[in-house]
Amino acid sequence: MLKIENLHVRVAGKEIIKGLDLAVNAGEVHAVMGPNGAGKSTLGNVLAGREGYEVTEGTVTFDGVDLLALEPEARAAAGVFLAFQYPVEIPGVNNTYFLRAALNAQRKQRGEDELDSMQFLKRVREKLAVLHLKDELLHRAVNEGFSGGEKKRNEIFQMALLEPKLAILDETDSGLDIDALKMVAHGVNAMRDAGRAFVVITHYQRLLDYIVPDFVHVLADGRIVESGDKSLALKLEEHGYAWVADRKLAGA
Ligand code: ADP
Ligand code: MG
Ligand code: MG
Repeated sequence: MLKIENLHVRVAGKEIIKGLDLAVNAGEVHAVMGPNGAGKSTLGNVLAGREGYEVTEGTVTFDGVDLLALEPEARAAAGVFLAFQYPVEIPGVNNTYFLRAALNAQRKQRGEDELDSMQFLKRVREKLAVLHLKDELLHRAVNEGFSGGEKKRNEIFQMALLEPKLAILDETDSGLDIDALKMVAHGVNAMRDAGRAFVVITHYQRLLDYIVPDFVHVLADGRIVESGDKSLALKLEEHGYAWVADRKLAGA
């Protein structure tokens, strides 16, 4: 589904991603872990198509299509969900209105009919039920005055509404409490299926107690330096990231 080969990315004139390879198949959950400043968020941002991230080498394909050639909206229409492509706060804009606009923009790009209010509310109710969420966030302005946990809840709700094929979640800076962590995990777990994949970028092993990944990768200094199953996350928790670097130096 997603194939990243020899990716090199420059930010503000400095190379941050330095030859990264990653392949994600449908049905899989991949965790990307790594020390601060390794380039995890940069990877997310470049997949989101954010401005200021210059790809100097390498390829990224999604279902065989050159993802890097697509505008952010076209990436969303193709089924890629990137939490951070959405504005942080939009004062004065009702969240329900915003979510419907986001969903209908995606449908329009795909040449599908827009959902009317009734159809949209039906979809909203379905997703609220699946996620065990209340509708209180829907009536407020987009993310305005939302706590970190509420923003995260809203992000997971957006993800559920848009039903992506590939969801990329960057949890690093969210400072989640245990309830928000469980909520994110429940949202991901409820949506796991054979046709969908997740890339969960995280710095905390704790999240992976709730979202059990099929693969764990360590991103350090702009590359994937180690990959394994979920036990790799536990080894990292025990030994720290320096352990991976030391093993590499020792030629292990
Ligand atoms: P991580 O998410 O793994 O902690 P980031 O991808 O946020 O790491 O950052 C990787 C490196 O790129 C850091 O050294 C950071 O300072 C630098 N960097 C990221 N974004 C920018 C930017 N917009 N301008 C300058 N440097 C940046
Ligand atoms: Mg290279
Ligand atoms: Mg980060």
